[in-house]
Amino acid sequence: MATRILVIEDEERIRQFLQRGLSFEGYRVDVASDGQTGLDLAYENPPDLVLLDLMLPEMDGLEVCRQIRQVSDVPILMLTAKETIEDRVVGLDAGADDYLVKPFAFDELMARVRALLRRTQPVQPQVYRFADLELDTGTRQGRRGGRTFDLTAKEYELLELFMQHPRQVLTRDLIFDRVWNYDFGGESNIIEVYVRYLRQKTEEDDLPRLIHTVRGIGYVLREESS
Ligand code: CA
Repeated sequence: MATRILVIEDEERIRQFLQRGLSFEGYRVDVASDGQTGLDLAYENPPDLVLLDLMLPEMDGLEVCRQIRQVSDVPILMLTAKETIEDRVVGLDAGADDYLVKPFAFDELMARVRALLRRTQPVQPQVYRFADLELDTGTRQGRRGGRTFDLTAKEYELLELFMQHPRQVLTRDLIFDRVWNYDFGGESNIIEVYVRYLRQKTEEDDLPRLIHTVRGIGYVLREESS
């Protein structure tokens, strides 16, 4: 059964960003734009994790957090707009397990989500395989043609995204959302740069291309030539 995540966030843009990204990751996502709706959803369909905005209209995130804690030990990740020790302390006092300061990159959020879920759902490192390419989530290294190669943090995240979604065209917007910050904007050529790095590492010794450009749209991991 899919892991269920409840998102309680009043800001529509961020709510949609979270819903889109988490759904794409394979999570079952429920969303609420205010605290009471969030609590109702939590009672109806108990989530495996809650993403809870601190600043909500009417009932604020701290109160929502306290009320959830009265009935459940579900991991709660608090989203805060400002980083002060005080905010952190009151959030953790109210029963949150962790907090993340906005604006945040999706990969940072996913790292926190996975860490919190691991406490209740232990997972082993795994090796993604596509054609003759491998990516080890434990060592964070790639392997192809008998050669193991290291990856920088962003290279790893980008390659992991491709390996999780083989043969699926990933749009530039989606790649930005997932690997870079949602505030990053689409003008930069940073994706092209990182795809080039990954091609250099995965195509060494003239191995056939696996990461193909889909002109005007994005990129796809597949075996046939584009
Ligand atoms: Ca808010």
